[in-house]
Amino acid sequence: MNYHVLTLFPEMIRQGLETSIIGRAMAKGIISLEAVNIRDYAFNKHQKVDDYPYGGGAGMVMQAEPVFLAYEAVKAKIGRKPRTVYLTPQGNVFHQEMAKEMAKEEDLVFLCGHYEGIDERVLEEIVTDYVSIGDYVLTGGELPAMVMIDSISRMVPGVLSNQESGETETFAGNLLEYPQYSRPEEWRGRKVPEVLLSGHHANVEKWRREQSILRTWKMRSDLLEKAELTGKERTWLAREIEKVQNRN
Ligand code: SAM
Repeated sequence: MNYHVLTLFPEMIRQGLETSIIGRAMAKGIISLEAVNIRDYAFNKHQKVDDYPYGGGAGMVMQAEPVFLAYEAVKAKIGRKPRTVYLTPQGNVFHQEMAKEMAKEEDLVFLCGHYEGIDERVLEEIVTDYVSIGDYVLTGGELPAMVMIDSISRMVPGVLSNQESGETETFAGNLLEYPQYSRPEEWRGRKVPEVLLSGHHANVEKWRREQSILRTWKMRSDLLEKAELTGKERTWLAREIEKVQNRN
């Protein structure tokens, strides 16, 4: 997977992604990251990349030409028109399935806006996907690009040392992950659930599945509608919900 990020702050992208799991994957050559400074493609006296919005109003707008030239340079390197994501609060909200699907691409271009955004005409020309990381407004697209790159990379084969952890964790099958515990067995009077110490693999799996379902119901009941539960599991959950409701 090769990431190409078009940005006014390339250092922010490089520094934000060079550590931990993603940094290791880059060192191993499983993923690559190119942060392209849009300003390098502004061929005016002060390398200015923004201007006032037509029609008036607050703030500045990133101009079309430097963005387009930066994109064209990346496109020439790749050798074809790449999938290009514009990070914007107006886009489709990012989710795990999107990460999984994008992880199949060989190249991904991310376009980070700043100020009031980018001239619409260049967006029409180059953008294939409009993606938001949530219903709030940030100052720039760099943090959203890093969020997406981190999440997509975890779905690229070989990035996680234990590939399974990408398959079973939160959102897999529209369920949240079960609670996790590590040593010591007892911490400030709180014990690890007995079943996890039993060494009985089937019982541990059953407990984890039940905890996943219960936790999803408690914290994200909206996900449960899309989760694939067996008839037996649905009956079990209905009984558990009844127990909780009777307790209250
Ligand atoms: N004026 C724009 C609007 O109202 O839609 C907001 C511009 S925002 C201050 C500057 C840049 O930050 C955007 O061009 C975009 O690249 C990025 N951005 C802000 N919030 C975002 C979000 N929730 N998801 C993805 N990108 C975001």
